[in-house]
Amino acid sequence: MDVIIVGAGIGGLTLGLALYRAGIPCRIYEAASAIEPIAVGINVLPHATRELAELGLEPALARVGVTTAEACFFNRFGQLIYREPLGREAGYAWPQFSLHRGDLQQVLADAFVRRAGADHLITGRRCVAFEQTADRVTVHFESAATGARLPPQHGAIAIASDGIHSTIRKQLYPDEGEPIYSGYNMWRGVTRWPRFLSGASMVRAGWLATGKMVIYPIRNDIDYQGSQLVNWVAEIETPRHEMRDWNRPGALADFVGAFKDWRFDWLDVPAMIGAAEVILEFPMVDQDPLPRWSFGRVSLLGDAAHPMVPRGSNGAGQAIVDARALADCLYATENRVAALRAYEDMRREATANVVRTNRTNPPDAILREVYLRTGDRPFDDIDAVISRDELVAISESYKRVAGYDHDTLAARK
Ligand SMILES: Cc1cc2nc3c(=O)[nH]c(=O)nc-3n(C[C@H](O)[C@H](O)[C@H](O)COP(=O)(O)OP(=O)(O)OC[C@H]3O[C@@H](n4cnc5c(N)ncnc54)[C@H](O)[C@@H]3O)c2cc1C
Repeated sequence: MDVIIVGAGIGGLTLGLALYRAGIPCRIYEAASAIEPIAVGINVLPHATRELAELGLEPALARVGVTTAEACFFNRFGQLIYREPLGREAGYAWPQFSLHRGDLQQVLADAFVRRAGADHLITGRRCVAFEQTADRVTVHFESAATGARLPPQHGAIAIASDGIHSTIRKQLYPDEGEPIYSGYNMWRGVTRWPRFLSGASMVRAGWLATGKMVIYPIRNDIDYQGSQLVNWVAEIETPRHEMRDWNRPGALADFVGAFKDWRFDWLDVPAMIGAAEVILEFPMVDQDPLPRWSFGRVSLLGDAAHPMVPRGSNGAGQAIVDARALADCLYATENRVAALRAYEDMRREATANVVRTNRTNPPDAILREVYLRTGDRPFDDIDAVISRDELVAISESYKRVAGYDHDTLAARK
């Protein structure tokens, strides 16, 4: 019997590809009627690009995205705090990619359909519930278009990769409640813009109390002038937030004031965000780590298992690493229930650490330290504010937690 995968997002599709490679049959059921390039940017770091490269996807990703070269941290006055190389530039055997989420999803979906067959990716089916016996699981679906009940599907196991609002997680934890608001609201968008800095720089600037921005290009050469599609996220501390879907439109007037003076020699931020093609608003949310993921023949993966605030570029990456771990566990034993327990042992505490660290000390802790030590004023000499060793220590410590420091990657077989 097949593995039933619920949700064809980044995690579900990667799992489908990893299972296909391991010779384990699966079917993916997706609520959306088609895989469409909605939403905005996403970063995939070397621990995750390694898994995608092993699935043969590196050339396709390099074609659609930007191979990220460096991270730059600035204060809100545009002064450089810290710069470090990323991906291959940092000596990894795998690149870091900055991508449109839709492009990443499309690369995965195309590869899955080409390899496994179009009949293994079934769209327009919304999972509404599951039940299980000792030897099989049954997943119930309705038509996403009409709400009509559809025939239930039977499988050996079911994996919930249905994202932050996972139906299966809700069935397992009915009293958990809605995702937890971090106190920071996000406005996200994409703008067609000339190359800035290296043309492959990931910028974090400012601080959450007064307004922070994350800015990076996600598509190269989108016109004949060499412009890029630039992804940006404005993050501001505010009690105001509304939990809706990933594609809720946002209004420029609600946040542009925080960035009105951000006209730097390396980028005119208000002009760039003012020229946005699309603006979306989304609260920064997560959930507390769960005590258990695997229940008999059902388990959780990706955001369904460990939704995290997006302050470490790791939501998609951890989902991709989950997929690899789960495929390895299923390959290692015919006992599906034992495999799901082994997968949980490998990944639950590891990802809980990322969830907790994203709340407290993600890479942008660099910005917080400088904000606090300078009293939010320009500095004359960054070395007098914070030493290079301290900056490196903050950055390296997050890499260890998220599993993309050089030692962890070298140790993984
Ligand atoms: C539309 C969308 C836009 C996003 N935009 C961004 C972004 O711009 N930047 C960013 O950093 N992260 C974004 N994310 C989140 C990011 O993709 C995830 O954090 C990360 O990739 C983890 O992947 P996942 O596969 O666990 O979950 P997701 O990528 O969220 O995928 C979940 C999938 O399950 C499907 N699904 C949900 N409920 C059901 C159901 N009941 N039955 C069947 N299928 C279901 C969804 O349609 C989706 O395709 C977005 C997610 C989605 C769904």
